Amino acid sequence: MASVTLRYFCYGCLVTSVTWSVLLFLYFSLGAEPGRGRTPLRHRSQPITKGPANQRAELRPLLANEGLEQSPEMGMIFNEADQEVRDSGYHRHAFNVLISTRLGNHRELPDTRDSKCRDKVYFLALPSASVVICFFNEAFSALLRTVHSVLGRTPAYLLHEIILVDDHSELEELKDNLDRYVKEELQGKVKLVRNQKREGLIRGRMIGASHATGEVLVFLDSHCEVNQAWLQPLLAPIQKDRRTVVCPVIDIISADTLSYSPSPIVRGGFNWGLHFKWDPVPPAELNGPEGVTGPIRSPTMAGGLFAMNRKYFNELGQYDAGMDIWGGENLEISFRIWMCGGQLLIIPCSRVGHIFRKRRPYGSPGGQDTMAHNSLRLAHVWMDEYKEQYLSLRPDLHDRSYGDIGERVALRKRLQCHTFRWYLDTVYPEMQTPANGNKQQPLFVNKGLRRPKVLQRGRLRNLATGRCLVAQGRASQKGGVVVLRPCDPRDPEQDWAYDEEGQLVLAGLLCLDVSEVRTFDPPRLMKCHGSGGSQQWSQGKSNRLYQVSVGQCLSVAQPTGPKGYVSMAICDASPAQQWQLEG
Ligand code: UDP
Ligand code: MN
Repeated sequence: MASVTLRYFCYGCLVTSVTWSVLLFLYFSLGAEPGRGRTPLRHRSQPITKGPANQRAELRPLLANEGLEQSPEMGMIFNEADQEVRDSGYHRHAFNVLISTRLGNHRELPDTRDSKCRDKVYFLALPSASVVICFFNEAFSALLRTVHSVLGRTPAYLLHEIILVDDHSELEELKDNLDRYVKEELQGKVKLVRNQKREGLIRGRMIGASHATGEVLVFLDSHCEVNQAWLQPLLAPIQKDRRTVVCPVIDIISADTLSYSPSPIVRGGFNWGLHFKWDPVPPAELNGPEGVTGPIRSPTMAGGLFAMNRKYFNELGQYDAGMDIWGGENLEISFRIWMCGGQLLIIPCSRVGHIFRKRRPYGSPGGQDTMAHNSLRLAHVWMDEYKEQYLSLRPDLHDRSYGDIGERVALRKRLQCHTFRWYLDTVYPEMQTPANGNKQQPLFVNKGLRRPKVLQRGRLRNLATGRCLVAQGRASQKGGVVVLRPCDPRDPEQDWAYDEEGQLVLAGLLCLDVSEVRTFDPPRLMKCHGSGGSQQWSQGKSNRLYQVSVGQCLSVAQPTGPKGYVSMAICDASPAQQWQLEG
């Protein structure tokens, strides 16, 4: 669904406004991979040694007990094979495949619904659902967890079928292996459809829908986990009104740690660049008869996760088959739903987690910018005079061809849809237009930023050398590396704070950070982003500082050497990896 500019949430793992705002920042503003190297090729500054056998034993009970909260050390690397799984996983999938594999097919999730949702009752006789999941080169473990979460958390009588659409994946693990798994382990309810060529997620979903026979279509991405009682709250409003299209709240599964955390309740909007964005929910929407558990009318949907009556999906024109690979189809279907007599709701009592990635790990076959192609099509079909808003922001697209839109224009006429002006006035009055000069409200204006609580502070002494960790240059220099120097209790630039989010903050300024894609790089001081991952450290056994996102420990490169360089290394119990925070 989303992207580099994620179409879903990109809010943080921890439910703090700090985390939210940072990830929202990513969500809204990332147009490209954040300033890190791209290629996580295997390469490191020191040879990998096998971890002691007892480290595996430490992990095993955590893996065996699915009821336990996921251990922060889930991503620990024990040997070269682990490192390879992790590195090639980031490269191919842009998330931590080592952890994904260790989590297995099924795990417990925190129930992120408002507690009032548990008291809600639904008709037993609800329409049956066909769940359609398209995938291209998905990690096997993530795909299976998506399927098993649906099988495990959906009443069997409501689940008509699951349709997997393989969009001509290249990965070996998705070939015979998957055929066999579907046939032998998933018996019956799961159909696997293989595209003969790469179609992209838009035509892919249409193909999936054409194989479906349930009453309601539910679309999911191939790296989701559905939560407690997720389906009934989606089916009920569709049963009440077949022209109602519904989205669950999309919870956040961290790409680095795979931890599952709740999203705040927001609704979908867009900007004139035709990028999806999240907006605050107008108070009137929250004060309906059902209060916090009631549906929220949303001008747009994020994209990948929604449910819709199947026949209505067909009547309303499915998707625009002229759109390629990824992007724009979510706004197109949102405008179409509202303008042609339907409505789009977000259902707070339905929660589905989605892995939010910082980049999409695939391109389009011809290397085209499919987002621009698709956006042009939707602007010309649906936006009337307002398409100029988009075109004025994208003068580069003026002469770009966007294919034949005749059929879609005819569809709009046939369905007798409202104008785009009507949509803006009625459904999305918050949108800034040349006429109203509205300022869009910033999100979470009143929440303010909360600083994470400091748990410990002082100098960070390395036990092998007796020296302390400092910035090589000034503590305020972004991107600077850290080194060991003689400890000095009066030096404010040796003052580290370890906080409840696992951040190590030097002199109240910058956070100790490890590149997720270039794990061979030494740790650096970076602006604190509050979203865990590359800045999340856990104080493990024997004074180790374990880096959650890269699965390694902070270590002195050469304990006896003069320079005192530090690096990341496979965790062991050596003094080179022992650190004490002393006040
Ligand atoms: N997908 C697909 N074909 C493509 C591109 C994507 O089937 O050419 C699938 C992909 O595997 C995923 C879904 O479409 O299940 C949405 O893509 P993605 O998760 O990359 O989008 P995002 O969540 O970043 O918007
Ligand atoms: Mn996705």
